[in-house]
Amino acid sequence: MLPPGSTIGILGGGQLGRMTALAAARLGYRCHIFAPEEECPAAEVAAAWTRAAYDDRSALARFARSVDVVTLEFENVPREAVAFLSGFVPTRPSAEVLATTQDRLAEKELVRRLGIGVTDFLAVDTPADAEEAARALGLPFLLKTRRFGYDGKGQWRIETKEQAAAAFSALGGVPALAEAFVDYSCEISVIVARTPDGRRLSYPPVRNEHRGGILHRTVVPAELPVGTAARASEIAERLAEALAVEGLLAVEMFVTRDGRVLVNELAPRPHNSGHWTLDACATSQFEQLVRAICGLPLGSVRRFFDATMVNLIGGEVDDWPTFLDAPDARLHLYGKREVRPGRKMGHVTWLRPLGN
Ligand code: AMP
Repeated sequence: MLPPGSTIGILGGGQLGRMTALAAARLGYRCHIFAPEEECPAAEVAAAWTRAAYDDRSALARFARSVDVVTLEFENVPREAVAFLSGFVPTRPSAEVLATTQDRLAEKELVRRLGIGVTDFLAVDTPADAEEAARALGLPFLLKTRRFGYDGKGQWRIETKEQAAAAFSALGGVPALAEAFVDYSCEISVIVARTPDGRRLSYPPVRNEHRGGILHRTVVPAELPVGTAARASEIAERLAEALAVEGLLAVEMFVTRDGRVLVNELAPRPHNSGHWTLDACATSQFEQLVRAICGLPLGSVRRFFDATMVNLIGGEVDDWPTFLDAPDARLHLYGKREVRPGRKMGHVTWLRPLGN
């Protein structure tokens, strides 16, 4: 167990790192951020910041010697950096977990191997594969890069066979994945915490609505049939166990119109769809991450309010005074100086008494 007073290293400097560092500070931990960007919302609330590239071995080594455990808030951190750090200090999650979750194909193959529902998919490595996908999966389908996608980036909706080959060629030959288009009734997610000694606890499933590939809002409770909610939780816990995740695993899923639950995507870190826990739960996902990676008892996931979390994307953040004035709204701003379209600037959580 790493007691309060220990130092947590966080790879990545965005809002997820910022909210993790705030939660860690409340429990008496120090955080040291490692991130290459000039602007670093996490570093503004942390004890230390190393600004260096993820392939800077001497900076990584110095960082590793200054911390007691390493976690990450950005899932595309190069796996090699995490593997290198693990020679000095525990990294939670591990480089092995990233090997799966950084590759959409490996991720989906794992889910399928476990006999868990997953969107139909095919690897696409040539224009001919892309055309074959149109035949095998039907149209429309989605073409996604295998690596480095997030918030709907690196994915295209393909309507015709000709478009399929052309879209793949436009990717410049990077490995891709074709995915059947799911006509879902809703999107949900479950966040599970798992400790190094295998203790586990998950938050209830929540309902997510996306706009343009970016999460717009999360609604809690998800209002799912009891069986569907139980299946979603069980899927997330099985995946956390199969991957031996240390820390958090967020599992995004589709609920189909005929009631099946299909896994869409995994992320071994705090997740945007868990921000509501900051204001509505006994323990937030960020505190839970700190507890999990430090081997502390996991905190209660009890919910005190029903909630709707709304992301403030780009210029939507300009409405901040309105949210300050609303008694049921809890405003979180990430301190990002430049407002850009599609950029997550903050979020607001609307609280309601349970059951209303
Ligand atoms: P992703 O980056 O894979 O999480 O995709 C971002 C969003 O695009 C998802 O949350 C869905 O709203 C939509 N999407 C992704 N894959 C599919 C699919 N196979 N069928 C329908 N919608 C999808």
